[in-house]
Amino acid sequence: MKRLPLEWDPPRYQGQRRQLVESLIQKGIQDPAVLAAIGRVPRHLFVEPTFIEHAYEDKALPIACGQTISQPFTVAYQTSLLEVAPRQRVLEIGTGSGYQTAILCELGAEVYSVELERELYERARALLEGLGYVVYLRWGDGRLGWPTYAPFDRILLTAAAESVPPGLFDQLAEGGRLVAPIGRPDGTQQMTVYSKRNGQIHRETKGYFRFVPLRKWGEPA
Ligand code: SAH
Repeated sequence: MKRLPLEWDPPRYQGQRRQLVESLIQKGIQDPAVLAAIGRVPRHLFVEPTFIEHAYEDKALPIACGQTISQPFTVAYQTSLLEVAPRQRVLEIGTGSGYQTAILCELGAEVYSVELERELYERARALLEGLGYVVYLRWGDGRLGWPTYAPFDRILLTAAAESVPPGLFDQLAEGGRLVAPIGRPDGTQQMTVYSKRNGQIHRETKGYFRFVPLRKWGEPA
C-alpha cells in the first residue's frame, strides 16, 4: 500500500484500528504478520459510507450486491490458518470488498482474486489500485479457480461451500494449503484446512463460522 494522505486515514481511525488489533489479540489471534496487516489496512475505506463509523468494530457489515465484508476476527483467523509467506502465489475466491485481498497483499503475497459480481469486482479494483496494491483481479466464477496462473501455493475461499469445487485441488501446488468454510450454505460452516503432501490431500477441521454462499454463475444472491 502506498502512504495514505492524512485526510484518507485520520488519526481517529488509526486509533480505532489499534484497538481492533488489541481486541483480536484478546480473542486469540497470535500471528504477528497477520496482526500487523490488520493494523495497516484502512478497513473504513472498504465498507459502505453508511457504516464507516462501525468499520473498526469486530463485525461483518453489508456491502453491495447483498454480500458482506467479513468480520475482522474471521479474516484474521482464516489468514492465520492459510500461513502465507512473502512472494507466495495466493488465489482468493470471493473478492467482495477487497479487504481480505489487501490483507493478503500486506503479507507480501502475489494475490489473484476472483469475484462473481461485476459491481464488486469493479469497485474492489478501483479501491485496491487507488491504494497502490498490485493485484490480479478477475470477474468470473471462482469455483473454476484461475487455471492460467495455477498452481497456487495457497487458496482461500471467502464464501461458504458444501464441498471444495473439484478442480481447485488440481490448481494447488505440492505443499500447498487451501482454507475454506465448508458446510450448509444456509447454516454454519466449519473452517477447513486442506494441505497437499505427496499429491495427497489431508484435511483438518477448525471452528464454526457463517459465510455468504459460494454461488454458481447467474445464481441470484
Ligand atoms: N473477502 C471478502 C468477503 C466477501 S463475501 C471481503 O473481505 O469483503 C464473499 C464474496 O464471494 C461475495 O462478494 C460474493 O459475491 C462472492 N462469490 C460468491 N460466489 C462466488 C463465485 N462462484 N466466484 C467468485 N466469487 C463468488
